[in-house]
Amino acid sequence: MPALKNHKIVLASRPVGEPISDDFRFVEESIAEPGPGEVLLKTLWLSLDPYMRGRMSDAKSYAEPAEIGQVMPGGGVSKVIASNNKAFTVGDIVVGYTGWQAHSKSDGSGLRKIDPTLAPISTALGVLGMPGMTAYTGLLNIGKPQAGETLVVAAASGAVGAIVGQIGKIKGCRVVGIAGGPNKVRYLTEELGFDVGLDHRVPDFADQLRAAVPNGIDIYFENVGGHVWDAVFPLLNRFARVPVCGLIAHYNNVAPPPGPDRTPALMRSVLSNRLTIQGFIVLDFDAQRGDFLRDVGGWLKAGKLKYREDVVHGLEKAPEALIGLLKGRNFGKLLVKVADG
Ligand code: NDP
Repeated sequence: MPALKNHKIVLASRPVGEPISDDFRFVEESIAEPGPGEVLLKTLWLSLDPYMRGRMSDAKSYAEPAEIGQVMPGGGVSKVIASNNKAFTVGDIVVGYTGWQAHSKSDGSGLRKIDPTLAPISTALGVLGMPGMTAYTGLLNIGKPQAGETLVVAAASGAVGAIVGQIGKIKGCRVVGIAGGPNKVRYLTEELGFDVGLDHRVPDFADQLRAAVPNGIDIYFENVGGHVWDAVFPLLNRFARVPVCGLIAHYNNVAPPPGPDRTPALMRSVLSNRLTIQGFIVLDFDAQRGDFLRDVGGWLKAGKLKYREDVVHGLEKAPEALIGLLKGRNFGKLLVKVADG
């Protein structure tokens, strides 16, 4: 086989505040044949996710940062195009953390085969992948939804939030979704069946939220932080649960927000209202993958769950798309179509 040209996007510099396109570099280089035990993969779909902003920074986190010059990390769905590994044959479709590149090599560890007859293969990066599992495990293990309770979910039209709210409905909750802009808000009630959709960008958002939860909030699925959290916090009921999944409003922060220290007020409420506020990373619940695939796969098949994908075409579009994700420009699970199968 002649040497294959690979295209990849590497981290060129660490952003200060919002990432810019110069923080990424497009590189073309050849990729060698797979060695013993290795497979050669062609990337079909690349997932773009908010955690990637964290990998661009060297601030302490739950995962190691990308090094300057290293291929941007990311999950992808790929096709096996050459194999020296008995566990994989040419034509297999796999999901794994293969990075922002058109081709990759792997010794097979961390790759999972997917059955393309069960669902569109891109869903392995969304509703049937990491974001879906985040929604399912965070809501059920920490949120513990009970029928009749009020569930509020932030970034509600996104990859995680849309699934959280729909599982909340399946569990019998009254669901209030918060999103940015009228199109996303309409989608929450008209397509996903949430009870209320609210736009966090309008000036009286906090008043609208108060009016939308006459019985207070029993579960708040935190995806954003910032002014959305400020509006939610005073409305939390006694024994409310807050799965802290993400804080996207702060990912580009370079300094703490101005104003007085609000920690004492938070701690007073944690005590007097007996709040459960628990952060989690989806990996914490890896042992529940079987339950997740059974339940979410079943709800999807039964038409009880809907999902929406926001697809950009071409690897070279990934930097702008990730920059847009951090500003709410995506509408649904953000994916890059890298190549046809
Ligand atoms: P989304 O598809 O929801 O996209 C991100 C959305 O965040 C944007 O579309 C935007 O929606 C919203 N947003 C961005 N900036 C702000 C802001 N300043 N204030 C309010 N909303 C904002 O992404 P995901 O569903 O993939 O991720 C959602 C959250 O879950 C993120 O915080 C992510 O880091 C976290 N996460 C955590 C995991 C874990 O293991 N703990 C795993 C996966 C995700 P809008 O236009 O509606 O404001």
